Formats: sequence, C-alpha cells, structure tokens
Amino acid sequence: MVIIMLGAPGTGKGTVAGILTEKLGWPQVSTGDIFRKHMKEGTELGKLAESYISKGNLVPDDVTIQLIENRLKENDVQEGIILDGFPRTIKQAEELDKILAKQGKKVDLVINLTTPKEEIIERIVNRRVCSNPECKTIYNIVLNPPKQEGICDKCGHEIVQRKDDNIETVEARLEGYFKQTSPLVEYYEKQGNLYNAMVSKQINKMGKDVAEEVIEKIKNQK
Ligand code: ADP
Ligand code: ZN
Repeated sequence: MVIIMLGAPGTGKGTVAGILTEKLGWPQVSTGDIFRKHMKEGTELGKLAESYISKGNLVPDDVTIQLIENRLKENDVQEGIILDGFPRTIKQAEELDKILAKQGKKVDLVINLTTPKEEIIERIVNRRVCSNPECKTIYNIVLNPPKQEGICDKCGHEIVQRKDDNIETVEARLEGYFKQTSPLVEYYEKQGNLYNAMVSKQINKMGKDVAEEVIEKIKNQK
C-alpha cells in the first residue's frame, strides 16, 4: 500500500507518518530526513540540498524524483510505504504515478493535513526532534515536551531543533507550500484517494488522533 502524507510544514505529517509506520510496519520515507542526513554527512547531494533548504526553498524536482525512484526499488518498501514530504509539486506527483505504474502499483491513500496558520508557526518554532536517525521522534516543547528536558523519552538521545525551523524560513516555506504543493490536493481529489483531516488544538485533534482514524479506515478496507 502506498500512502502519501500531504500538508503544509508543521501540520504534523511526520508525527502521523511515524505512528503509521509503528502500527502498520511499513517504512516512513521522508525526503526531508534523507536530505538532512546527507547534509549532516556533507555529501554532494547534502551540499546541494542545503543551498535550497536553508532559504526555505524546495530542492529541484529532478534531484528529488531520482532519490525517490531509487528508494522505491528497495526490498523493504515493496509491501507498503508511507511517503512523508513527497510529492511536493505536480511534476513530482506525475512522475511518482509513472514510477509506481511500472511496478504495477498506484497511490492508495493521500492524507491531507490542515492546520490554522498561526498554529503552524507556533508549532514549527516549538518543534524539536530526536537526533537519533533511527528514532526521529518529534516533540513540541509546549504541547508535547519530553519527560526530561532535552532528552528523548523513547531512546535517550539528545533532542535538537532543526536548522530550518526558525521564523525567518517559515514564511518562505509556507508560501512555497501554497504555490507549489497545495495544487496536489486537487490532483489527488480527482484520483479519488484523498482523505482530509484537520489537526488543531482548537478542535482538540492532534496528529495521533488522525493516525488512529487512518488505521481504522485501512483495517475496514481490508
Ligand atoms: P517540513 O514539512 O516541516 O517543511 P521536511 O522535512 O518535509 O519539512 O522538508 C524540509 C525541507 O526539505 C523542505 O523545506 C524542502 O526544502 C526540502 N524538501 C523535502 N521534501 C522535498 C520534496 N519532495 N521536494 C523538494 N524539496 C523537498
Ligand atoms: Zn529518540
């Protein structure tokens, strides 16, 4: 099963994807995480990605599509995959459809998360992530802090703030989302596999609640 997480930065895509991976057993593949790993290791791809990410811009389509095409060939994702942060442009979505078609697959479910803008900014600024690449648990220092300050509850590694999670790049990332990524909502609506969910403290609904709904939905489909 191919599941896509769609939504502006800070809506909780990573949180929902992480829970789905844990419960369904299919890998979470986050293009953002892959780029950050390369940046940390200082690879050529990492240097290229950083030049875009640090400005709040998207990494070019050809680079990103190639990365996903290779990842989709690996054994561990043949039964199921949760794509977190890809596709982010119509071009990427079209290419993904072609890549999957070659494998006799298709996009099965697109989870579209929405959150009011003021809340998004607050969440991005307060977001912290576990620095252990095997864990990557996401925290919010106000809404969902770790039990011990700065330390991951799950694995004990240090919790850090992403370099691009600052007020300066947030506006550019949001603008990029509305221009380049939000047309995907209509794209997948036409395909008939869109599932809309609002994530907001105003309606007392967080990423984990959406993840539970989605798991129920998948179970009922089987
Ligand atoms: P968020 O959803 O919070 O913005 P991500 O970890 O998904 O965070 O992405 C971080 C950055 O990596 C993005 O702002 C963008 O620059 C780059 N990126 C991630 N996925 C893609 C993609 N599919 N296409 C182009 N750039 C991407
Ligand atoms: Zn951890």
